[in-house]
Amino acid sequence: SLSIGIVGLPNVGKSTLFNALTKNDALAANYPFATIEPNIGVVGVPDPRLTALAEIFGSAKVIPATVSFVDIAGIVRGASKGEGLGNQFLANIRESDAICQVIRAFDDPDVTHVDGEIDASRDIETINTELILADLQTLEKALPRLRKEAKTNAKDKDRQRLLAAAEAAQEVLNEGHALSTGGPAAGIELADLRELNLLTVKPFIYVFNLDSDELADAELRKRLSGLVAPAEAIFLDAKIEAELAELDDAEAAELLESMGQSESGLTQLARVGFATLGLQTYLTAGPKEARAWTIKKGATAPEAAGVIHTDFQRGFIKAEVVSFDDLVEAGNTQAAKAAGKVRMEGKDYVMHDGDVVEFRFNV
Ligand code: GDP
Repeated sequence: SLSIGIVGLPNVGKSTLFNALTKNDALAANYPFATIEPNIGVVGVPDPRLTALAEIFGSAKVIPATVSFVDIAGIVRGASKGEGLGNQFLANIRESDAICQVIRAFDDPDVTHVDGEIDASRDIETINTELILADLQTLEKALPRLRKEAKTNAKDKDRQRLLAAAEAAQEVLNEGHALSTGGPAAGIELADLRELNLLTVKPFIYVFNLDSDELADAELRKRLSGLVAPAEAIFLDAKIEAELAELDDAEAAELLESMGQSESGLTQLARVGFATLGLQTYLTAGPKEARAWTIKKGATAPEAAGVIHTDFQRGFIKAEVVSFDDLVEAGNTQAAKAAGKVRMEGKDYVMHDGDVVEFRFNV
């Protein structure tokens, strides 16, 4: 599942948000590591399509796609030089697919800001600088080894590629750029750097923690979005997210609406996270369960089948596909078939978000 690490300065609402996102999630029990590690939470992505499918197919249960929040790392100015607790907390964040930066934009005289005044732009700069410095440290440590390996394995193309990419990455970072943006601009293939587990290679998602009465402030949102573009910005109130976690769906929707919002922080994070990483979901449904599966955009039908089971991919014959909207409009599979909306697709079919699929395969 998509994994997201949460970073930010102290007192910006990271823990409040993490606790709200992962509160009482029934899924946690299915993921043993999530209950052992206090800072890991596996959360189902709210997906109203599954409820509709469960109704059509009489499914006994609904299994949503998941997002895991893998850790919270508090970062202070100078962390890379050992200030505060240093960078020891970045370990789990290194394993995540994306980094969610929480930035304080709420005003509260009772909650002190480590750098005095509230200043989103300065805070983003501080965090980005520390992440860049952390990557520089990783590279400084790794480069002597990479150079030696490249020398002793002169014919190993992968080692040469890695060394060249690492040296180019060091230059980009020294110029003050994150690798996710500066890397490709400097001709670096980010995949070449994978084994180094660098932080700034990962896409950043920025979460602005606002006062609830500012959530609908279009001017403010525009200004803050401008600070991070082209990266995506999400706006929420961590304290409200904590309240939402206590409510049932209808009450939560009502509270959000009263603040001019249509989506919870979790829904926003999952949507933006999936989009940022080029992921999408397809659906399966039957009497047992209605379920969402996560695949890469552009995945073919056999690749999608492989997410369920490698045997499904290996023995793939064809896929019976109907779009969610067509299925709902028809009312059930029979009616969708009668209306010519159910297609038989072969191994070259490229999946669409919201395809409802039944695979045929040899075992
Ligand atoms: P962390 O250090 O980043 O994990 O921050 P915490 O989540 O522990 O929050 C620090 C303090 O700010 C706590 O007292 C929270 O109750 C408060 N806080 C967090 N989010 C908000 C918010 O959206 N609005 C207000 N007014 N206070 C918040």
